[in-house]
Amino acid sequence: MKEIDITRGIIENHVADLMQSLKSDVVIVGAGPSGLVAGGYLAELGVNVTILEKKLSPGGGIWGGGMGYKYVITQDEAKGVLDDFDIPSKPFEDNLHAVDAIGLASGLIFGAVRKGAKIFNLVVVEDLLVREGKVRGVVINNTFAMMNHFPVDPITMEARAVVDATGHEHDIVRTFSSKNDVALNTPGGKPIGERSMFAEPAEDAVVTNTTEVYPGLYVCGMSTAAVYGGYRMGPIFGGMLLSGKKLAHMLAEVCGK
Ligand SMILES: Cc1cc2nc3c(=O)[nH]c(=O)nc-3n(C[C@H](O)[C@H](O)[C@H](O)COP(=O)(O)OP(=O)(O)OC[C@H]3O[C@@H](n4cnc5c(N)ncnc54)[C@H](O)[C@@H]3O)c2cc1C
Repeated sequence: MKEIDITRGIIENHVADLMQSLKSDVVIVGAGPSGLVAGGYLAELGVNVTILEKKLSPGGGIWGGGMGYKYVITQDEAKGVLDDFDIPSKPFEDNLHAVDAIGLASGLIFGAVRKGAKIFNLVVVEDLLVREGKVRGVVINNTFAMMNHFPVDPITMEARAVVDATGHEHDIVRTFSSKNDVALNTPGGKPIGERSMFAEPAEDAVVTNTTEVYPGLYVCGMSTAAVYGGYRMGPIFGGMLLSGKKLAHMLAEVCGK
């Protein structure tokens, strides 16, 4: 066993994955529940999908459950997604299920990888590639360079569709809207901002507002609430899972799958 062979194994495999992702069908920004579900289903449907996550650990807002109590709740409608990712849950009340947050995060991450999505952690999407009125890719940098404000130039990845799955931050739509003189597909053409907690309509709206917000740019999960003025919902996750599933089917069609 030689150290240099271990090093070569890491670099060669990482670069092979990266080369495959340079021209993806779909780039999803954010590896929270909605992005992981979307990525997993898209890969299963034969779409070349890349998920970019700025943190060390994918999973987004799942890990902490509700205020650090390590369970989240889903509703009946989302049980099929849990089953597709082999995630156990406990029936609870009429149509609710309690899911161990750590089981949910790790199950969605492993499920997405096993289905064929490429996930890169420690990558920040800092901007978009826009050509002829269409979003055509992402501008990316290394998390450590960004954290330390090092003057390191970003590189790019092309995609037929880019997804903002960045949660409350709606980082991609926010940056795109503030840097460019563009009208989003929202009343007023700008992100509207999230409203106070009201779980039931919030869950429905997350799924309804999973859509194309500008040619080539899509939103799913909690960023739909920030972009379209939806309510927040607290630690119920069915809407996030169903939003990811809806997006996967929309984009598979766009990609001809
Ligand atoms: C501290 C905290 C408190 C929360 N409180 C509530 C609440 O009270 N009510 C509620 O409804 N929801 C709350 N949430 C969010 C809740 O967890 C969500 O409902 C759910 O996790 C959202 O899922 P998502 O897939 O939309 O995105 P998230 O789970 O938020 O995941 C988004 C991911 O995108 C990544 N990301 C962001 N910007 C970039 C970028 N530029 N490049 C690469 N990656 C990026 C983030 O690191 C994150 O992993 C909270 C989340 C956190 C973290």
